[in-house]
Amino acid sequence: MRHCQTTAHSLLTALTVIAAWCLLVAPAPALAKATTSELPYVTVDALGDGVSLRGQWRFQPGDNLDWAAPGADDNHWRSVDMPQRWPRGGYPEHQHLAWYRLTLQLDPHIAGVNQAPILAVRMGKVLSAYELYAGGQLVGGAGSLPPLGEFDYDRQRVLVIPPAAINKDGTLVLALRVWGGSDALVDAWGAGPVSGVFMLGDYRRLMLQGMVSEVPGLLFCALIFAFGLYHLYLFARNRNLETYLWFGLMATNIAIYGVMLTQWKYLLPISFLAMKKIEFGAIYLFPALGIQMVWSLLQLPIGRWLRAYQWSFLAAAVLVVLVPGHAIHFHTLIWWQLWTLPIIAFAPWVIFRESRAGNPEAKTILLGTIIFLATGVNDLLIDLAHIETSRLAPLGFVAILIAMAVSMADRFTSMYSTLETEVAERTAELSAVNRRLAEAARVDHLTGLLNRRGFTEEAETEIRRMFRTGKSFSLVLADVDNFKQFNDQYGHVCGDHVLKRVAALLEERTRDVDRVARWGGEEFIMLLPETEIDGAAILAEKLRDAVAANLFEFDNLRLSLTMTFGIAAFRKGESLDACIARADTALYHGKEGGRNKVMIGNYKGLSLVN
Ligand code: GH3
Ligand code: MG
Ligand code: MG
Repeated sequence: MRHCQTTAHSLLTALTVIAAWCLLVAPAPALAKATTSELPYVTVDALGDGVSLRGQWRFQPGDNLDWAAPGADDNHWRSVDMPQRWPRGGYPEHQHLAWYRLTLQLDPHIAGVNQAPILAVRMGKVLSAYELYAGGQLVGGAGSLPPLGEFDYDRQRVLVIPPAAINKDGTLVLALRVWGGSDALVDAWGAGPVSGVFMLGDYRRLMLQGMVSEVPGLLFCALIFAFGLYHLYLFARNRNLETYLWFGLMATNIAIYGVMLTQWKYLLPISFLAMKKIEFGAIYLFPALGIQMVWSLLQLPIGRWLRAYQWSFLAAAVLVVLVPGHAIHFHTLIWWQLWTLPIIAFAPWVIFRESRAGNPEAKTILLGTIIFLATGVNDLLIDLAHIETSRLAPLGFVAILIAMAVSMADRFTSMYSTLETEVAERTAELSAVNRRLAEAARVDHLTGLLNRRGFTEEAETEIRRMFRTGKSFSLVLADVDNFKQFNDQYGHVCGDHVLKRVAALLEERTRDVDRVARWGGEEFIMLLPETEIDGAAILAEKLRDAVAANLFEFDNLRLSLTMTFGIAAFRKGESLDACIARADTALYHGKEGGRNKVMIGNYKGLSLVN
């Protein structure tokens, strides 16, 4: 049953991750849909969909503003495939400055078409700042080139090409002036137009495409953020749900990191540097939160070394946020990646070990972890081997998040049903105890007979039954004679022992249907159902005789004693108390008359039986 549930959840996790994958990654090929032909001839139709500017550009390290002019000679420049990452180290002799040029032949009809498109170029990712010239004019850029030298390498700008930039013969010369950034950046990450598709097309269309492709990412972040806040709220409501706290923090952290990967971040009124601080802070913190979350979910204690390791990530996150400038990012990212390797190996091993040990949460988390590792390796290869693929870390985070959410739900559902069973068991135990307590409240603990309360309840029931059957009952009240003296002579312990024996004797000598109770002290009461006064008198006499004849043994002593009996028959219309009072009066008179007697309490008066 449990196993089925876990398998179902694992399946669910896998499906959700695949869905997320499609959602995030699917829009990318749409951008590359345009012709990949290297022929720099652009037709009206092709422009409608957007033309990819992948392919051969001319490249020249160095810097000369004359290279922006359409007529500049680039015949001897190197041919490169766009996008193109610079070799590590870049071009320090040129202050990491270089130019790219592309000459296109536009269909002469383009200008003549009704509602001519507003021509624009959508830029891929350029590390770390650039200017784009068209027909010799500056049409825009990102960041600032030296001497100011300001980084801005995430922005996917769409730059308008003014009609004047196109030559009369339909040729368009694009010139891209790139600054690779500081030595630190170029040494760590390479530089130049490193990735993404450069597109030529209609401005509105390119803008729309860009925005649409970013919507799922943003929605996803919003969803994860809401998810995180919800769990933080649940934790605020119930401080016992500590796992919810870590889950909530991790989800919000991932959501913040995710927003920093979208273009929507530029809507925030903060600088590029501040956004990078947030991005790096979030990513550096992730292992610390991840360890906390996984260990709390698996209900494992965090050892001293693991705790120290965890703190190192927190410290690293604080460090990259507090140290001014970008250099700290370029210098530390690779070390952070290497520093995560131990946990990337250790955590799956622990999770695997736990799942082998039958921890059901571990099985679900294991699946999420495997997906996460796959994306991690992918991203590590981007930085280490400079492979050309998209970063998948956000998807990995999402996979792990979903796996954890599922296993958390799993855990709390099973906790809830365990709790329910426990509550049911406790309730049953409690009612059994209550029954025993109620029973105990009716019983005299010395003799084991009914006590006064138990007897009264039984008598009330008998009275009700009498009204149905019409058959009356009698009461016998019996009191040990001179018991005070007996106690004084032989001691209380002996008195108690004898009282128990008397109780047993009375019980033995009466019928099963008769109720025998200890009325208090050395006084007993008996209810004899369907018995008239004569029958009661006979029984009482038998009992008196039996007690008087009995030798009570205690500590090698053989003791005898007597009892006096008062009896009364219950009459319809009178109360139980009234009937008892008559028996009591009879008893009193029996004592007066010398004890060891049976007296009948009638309406008419009293009569002696023996
Ligand atoms: P009478 O023949 O008039 O009934 O004399 P009595 O001494 O039996 O009557 P009294 O009411 O003066 O004293 C009752 C004595 O019964 C007092 C007490 O010492 C004794 N007694 C009452 N309950 C218990 C009990 O649970 N254990 C013991 N050992 N003695 C008890
Ligand atoms: Mg007595
Ligand atoms: Mg008494």
